[in-house]
Amino acid sequence: MSGLKEDNGLTATQIKEFIELSKQKGVDFNPRTGATCPICRTERAEVTRTMPWGGSLRIRYHKCKCGWTFKSMEVST
Ligand SMILES: [Zn+2]
Repeated sequence: MSGLKEDNGLTATQIKEFIELSKQKGVDFNPRTGATCPICRTERAEVTRTMPWGGSLRIRYHKCKCGWTFKSMEVST
């Protein structure tokens, strides 16, 4: 299974927009709940790779249990 569900209420166009958006920007990383999968909204998606801090920004790569891979961004304050 590739993970994309058809019963999550999103049209194919909306999913495509999600994909483009997440490629560009990533999702926010929350210190308490981790990264939330943009497809199935599961919190604490598994981290596959953590990049070093680049200035005040840190990027992580995730693979959700639904099969979706995405990146998150943590901004230090
Ligand atoms: Zn997911």
